[in-house]
Amino acid sequence: SESEKTPRLRGALDGIPTYKPGRPAAADGPVSYKLSSNENPYPPLPGVLESVTGAAASFNRYPDMACSTLMAALAERFGVPPEHLATGTGSVGVAQQLLQVTAGPGDEVIYAWRSFEAYPIITRISGATPVTVPLTEGEEHDLDAMADAVTERTRLIFVCNPNNPTGVAIPREDLERFLDRVPGDVLVVLDEAYREFVRDERVVDGIELYRDRPNVCVLRTFSKAYGLAGLRVGFAVAHEPVAAALRKTAVPFGVSQLAQEAAVASLRSEDALLERVEALVGERTRVTRELEAQGWTVPVSHANFVWLRLGERTDGFAAACEEAGVTVRPFTGEGVRVSVGETEANDIFLQTAAAFRKNEL
Ligand code: PMP
Repeated sequence: SESEKTPRLRGALDGIPTYKPGRPAAADGPVSYKLSSNENPYPPLPGVLESVTGAAASFNRYPDMACSTLMAALAERFGVPPEHLATGTGSVGVAQQLLQVTAGPGDEVIYAWRSFEAYPIITRISGATPVTVPLTEGEEHDLDAMADAVTERTRLIFVCNPNNPTGVAIPREDLERFLDRVPGDVLVVLDEAYREFVRDERVVDGIELYRDRPNVCVLRTFSKAYGLAGLRVGFAVAHEPVAAALRKTAVPFGVSQLAQEAAVASLRSEDALLERVEALVGERTRVTRELEAQGWTVPVSHANFVWLRLGERTDGFAAACEEAGVTVRPFTGEGVRVSVGETEANDIFLQTAAAFRKNEL
């Protein structure tokens, strides 16, 4: 009968998995650290926290929809016109809008695999067809193969730099050569969620590259280096037509006033935040060296995590970490991504990795 009918949903949604967040730390364990979501382990700076509690006093009101104060602060910080900026509900929200403004059924979207798990999900939600290009043996983007994969139907290409979950970054010349090969009517999204953790000057800042390339869009986030993951604010830098299309498709009021004020306060306290990033980069070096000393092969990470290609041993390794008190991010059959966190958390992970190797030998 009519009452037994269910609403007709878009067929494109069939089989699309729901995004899986990293496992939280166990609430009941004796020691428990979360190294599964590439979060910033430091608690909010007092000044940033104050900006949020200040804004909370008026959350009966809608936020500033244009994010004007934040946009002005970003424009100044990055030396770009405010018309070249768009903010959104996390950079993943902006990425979803980028698909909305470029691609639909019949169109193709290219990205490397493995890369950020949201790409296949948001691409398929858009109705477009994902075209994946495997990473090289050395866990690098195969940019030649990605450029070769471009067809008349290609509308958008995601380039995750540094790449999640491998941490590997692309040298400037390689990226420039790739951009020179991509047709001007294809949008190239440089996802730089981890840019602030890059210490190798061969890795070019996408904001430098976008300036004379109207088909390049740079994605950044306040979630990682700036420690605002829970507040959901990301932004794009792109030339006027793309940025304007993003502002048009933004969920109205999608960035809360709390998030806006925290982001502005974070830019104001950037020196203190970048000192913390420096400490995490130091920990990344320590973790990498120690793993190598244990005999692991670790791709050089330019982000706040390391990648261990464990193949069939992935789930066993993740379970061992969890037992020891740290949650990590397993990709079954492929490998484990481990965020660089508090020193104690990194120590537990390193001890577990050493024990795991010993048991294997
Ligand atoms: N891009 C990459 C490469 C990421 O790893 C992440 C977070 N895991 C994001 C984008 C999204 O971050 P957010 O939505 O918190 O800005």
